[in-house]
Amino acid sequence: MSLGASFDPDAVHAKYLAERDKRLVPGRADIRDLDHDERFARYRADPFTPMVERSPIEDEVDVVILGGGIAGILAGVELRKAGVDRFRIVDTAGGLGGTWYWNRYPGVMCDVESYIYLPMLEELDYIPKHRYAFGEEILAHLQAIGDRYRLDEGALFHTGVTRAAWDDEAGRWRIETDRGDRLSARYYVLAVGILNRLKLPVIEGMEDFAGHSFHSARWDYAYTGGGPGRPMTELGAKKVGLFGTGATGIQCVGPLADAAEHVYVFQRTPSAIGERGNRPTEPGFGSDFGPGWQRDRMDNFQAIMLGKQVAEDLIDDGWTHHYAVVQRPPRVAGESITDYLARAEKIDFEIMEHHRSRVAELVQDPAVAEVLKPYYRYLCKRPCFHDEYLLAFNRPNVTLVDCPAGIDRITERGPVVGGEQYDLDCLVYATGFEAELTPLYRRADHPVVGRDGVTLAERWADGASSLYGMMVRGFPNLFAMPAPGQQAVVTVNYTQLAVLGAHVVGGTIGQLAARGCPTFEVSAEAEAAWTEQIVSSFVDASALMSQCTPSRLNLEGHPELMNPRNGNYGRGLGDWFGYRDLLESWLAAGELEGLELR
Ligand code: NAP
Repeated sequence: MSLGASFDPDAVHAKYLAERDKRLVPGRADIRDLDHDERFARYRADPFTPMVERSPIEDEVDVVILGGGIAGILAGVELRKAGVDRFRIVDTAGGLGGTWYWNRYPGVMCDVESYIYLPMLEELDYIPKHRYAFGEEILAHLQAIGDRYRLDEGALFHTGVTRAAWDDEAGRWRIETDRGDRLSARYYVLAVGILNRLKLPVIEGMEDFAGHSFHSARWDYAYTGGGPGRPMTELGAKKVGLFGTGATGIQCVGPLADAAEHVYVFQRTPSAIGERGNRPTEPGFGSDFGPGWQRDRMDNFQAIMLGKQVAEDLIDDGWTHHYAVVQRPPRVAGESITDYLARAEKIDFEIMEHHRSRVAELVQDPAVAEVLKPYYRYLCKRPCFHDEYLLAFNRPNVTLVDCPAGIDRITERGPVVGGEQYDLDCLVYATGFEAELTPLYRRADHPVVGRDGVTLAERWADGASSLYGMMVRGFPNLFAMPAPGQQAVVTVNYTQLAVLGAHVVGGTIGQLAARGCPTFEVSAEAEAAWTEQIVSSFVDASALMSQCTPSRLNLEGHPELMNPRNGNYGRGLGDWFGYRDLLESWLAAGELEGLELR
C-alpha cells in the first residue's frame, strides 16, 4: 500500500507499524562471536597490509593511545603540541586511519561535507577535491597528518591490547598485547572509535557457502580485482550477493554493478536515500577563507543540526535540510505540546514522502520502487545520501531481493529467501558494526582494569559514570575519547567531537606534565554530579522509538532498554556548544577541577 501525499495520521501509523512488524523477528540482531568462533575469525583479517613478524617490546612511555583513527591521530597531534613526545599509538590495523583504514570498499566515501569532516585542513593547507570526499583521499589526508606529526614513530600496528591494568604503586598503566609486548604508560587513552567491531550476522548455514565471502570492512580486492577508486576487473563472470543496505551497502552497489555479471541486493530494510549532490571543489574555493574558517564552518553545521538560527546555511545539504528540521522542528509561539508533536509528525511525514517520491521518480519498475520505499519516521534509522544507488536498480544486472524478515538460510550454493535458492559466487556482508550504543568497555575489546582489580565492564555494569564522558573514577590517568553512549554528546560530524576530545586529552596531560606528572583521579563528587546531570536531562523517547522499524538506534526494537546513564550532556543528541564551552573553560582555568591529584 502506498500512502499518497496527503497526511492521514492513522493510515501512516498503521503502515509504519505493519512494516515494523515484518522486521521485528526473533534473532534479527544476532551476531557471530568473532572473538571465539574460529570458523569466522578470518572475516577480521587484514587484507590490506601484510603482517610483519617482530619481537615483543618492553617499554616505558608517557602515553599509550589505543586506536590510530581520527580520534587517536588528533590525540597524538595534541600531545606533540603539548610537548609530550614519548607516546605510542597501538592499533590492530596495519597503519593509521581507523575506519578509513579498514573501509576501502568500492565507492567508499563520507556523506558529511568534506570541508568539515577532514580534520586540520587549515593547518595542512589542504582543500579536499570534492564536496564529499572518497575514502582514499580521507585516508591519505589522515596519513599526511600522521607524517607531519610523526605519529607512526613508535606506533605498534597489527597489535591488539589484550589487557590494561592500573598499577597503583607505580602510578602507571601496565599494558599487554597480542604480540607479547609489555608497555608501561603513565597515561592511557582509549581512542577506539565507534565502528571498530564489525558485525557478522548469524544466518543458518553461512559456513557452508562454497563461494567466496567477506565483510565490507575487509574488501577482498585480491578476489574482485581492482582497488579503491579503480574498477574491479575479476568480477565479469561472477554473481555477487550483497547483504546490507545501510550507508555502506548503498555506496557499494554502483561499482559492483559496473563490474559483476549480476548483483543481487538482499534488502531487509530500505534506507531513506536523500540527494547527495557531490561535485568537484570549485577552483579557488577557500582562497578567501580567514583563520579559523574550519571551526566556524563546523559550528555552522552543528548549530543548524541543533535547530539554532544561523545567518547562512554554509553546508546546504540533506543533513541541514532534513535531519536538522526533523531533529528539532522549529517552535511556534504559543503552540501546545500536543500541537507541536502533531506538527513535527507531519513535517516528518512530508520529508519521508519526499524520499519515497524520489524512489518512484528514479526507479523505473514500480514494483521494485515500492520495495525500496522507506516506511518509518526519518530518524528511526541513519539517513543515507546517494545519487547513483537507486538508479542502479534500473540496470539489467541488478536484482533487488526483498527479505524484511531476513535470509532463510545459506546453502553451499548461496542464500535462500522465501524458499528460492540464489546461486552465487560471492557474498559481501555490508552488515555494519557494533556502533553507537555499544559500551566503551566492549569497543575497547580488552579488560581495562582499574584500582583494586575492578574492570571498566564491572564498574559500568549498570551504565556509565564519568566526568565529561572522558574520565572515570577508579581508573586513574585514563582518558576515553568522547563518543555516543558514554555521557558526552553526539555529533553527526564525528570529527568535531574528536577535535574537542583531543584538545582535552593533550591539554590535560600537558598541564599534568607541567606539574611533574602527578596521578589524577576523578573525585567521587565530580563524577556523581556529572552523572546526575546526564540522568536528569535524559528524555525517555521509548514510546516513539518503539514504533520505529528496528535498528541499532532503537536497540533493535527495544528502546525501553536504553539506560539514562548512557545518555548525553543535554537533551536528545546533547548540548554540543554547552559541552564544548564547559570543557574549554575547564581546561583554560588550569585548576583541573574535579580531579584529585596525587
Ligand atoms: P548499518 O547501518 O548497521 O547497516 C547494516 C545493514 O545490514 C542494514 O541494512 C541491515 O538491515 C543489514 N543486515 C544486518 N544483519 C542482517 C541480516 N542478518 N540479514 C540481512 N541483512 C542484514 O551498517 P553500515 O551500512 O556499515 O553503516 C554503519 C555506520 O557506518 C553508519 O551508520 C555510519 O555511521 C557509518 N558510515 C558512514 C558513511 C558515511 O558516508 N559517512 C558511510 C558508510 C558507513 P536492517 O536495516 O534491516 O537492520
